[in-house]
Amino acid sequence: MSRHLNVTAGGSKDPKPLSEISFSCLSNIRLVATDMDGTLTRRGKFTAALLQALEDLAASDIKVLIVTGRSAGWVSGLSSLMPIAGAIAENGGLFFPSGNQKPVTLTPIPDLVNHRQHLATAFRQLQKKFSQIQESADNRFRITDWTFDVAALNPSELQTLDNLCQQMGWGFTYSNVQCHIKPQGQDKAVGLLQVLCEYLPKYSSEQVVTVGDSPNDESLFNQSYFPVSVGVANVLEYMNQLQYQPAYVTTSAEGEGFCELSSYLLKRLEIPKSQAVPDLL
Ligand SMILES: [Mg+2]
Repeated sequence: MSRHLNVTAGGSKDPKPLSEISFSCLSNIRLVATDMDGTLTRRGKFTAALLQALEDLAASDIKVLIVTGRSAGWVSGLSSLMPIAGAIAENGGLFFPSGNQKPVTLTPIPDLVNHRQHLATAFRQLQKKFSQIQESADNRFRITDWTFDVAALNPSELQTLDNLCQQMGWGFTYSNVQCHIKPQGQDKAVGLLQVLCEYLPKYSSEQVVTVGDSPNDESLFNQSYFPVSVGVANVLEYMNQLQYQPAYVTTSAEGEGFCELSSYLLKRLEIPKSQAVPDLL
């Protein structure tokens, strides 16, 4: 089933430091929906501290869902190897539950061969204007979208690519690593809301914190759907390009920023509400 949301602008304010988040807000959180590249990684790799944070969250019954633009092929392997509740691939295209359960296609693709051919045609059209763009290494492992490396494309060029995709009937987004030609209406928020509704219905929006670092995470920062959102510090370089901004921002960048959030969540669980000074950290 696919759901199309009417995402509207507004309600986005400058993010506050994560240190200003309230006790009550933190102690409600039971599920972390997080981007991967630039948010869990540090210079492109997972660290021992990140894996420990994921283990500690799981041990405290705080579920972690990865919501990434990476391909179905990559996410299939990653989701089965990491201590997480599941992973959403291709910016909301597919859901990989934990364990060895079958993946779920969130964006229906009736004819896969035809779909890939149409995406390839759209990419060739973009190459006519931007001859330097190269197909990403993981593009062959994709189902719903088509990717090329973000390389040295500047904001104006990225806007032109977005416009060209829209003219061809496709959506477009980009992260710190890749550009995506994708079905219109497919984004991280749409995919995450669908997964929460159908597979994790016990979590209310106040129990979810969304985390990211890049323009392809902006729908996760839409406070109409996710009232508690966090950007790791490197998100600040994209502030002018985000339609929605995170509610809070960490002091540290990349995976260290995620670990900062994780330690806030775990510390709050250790303090009984009766002993906490309300909303003072
Ligand atoms: Mg990212």
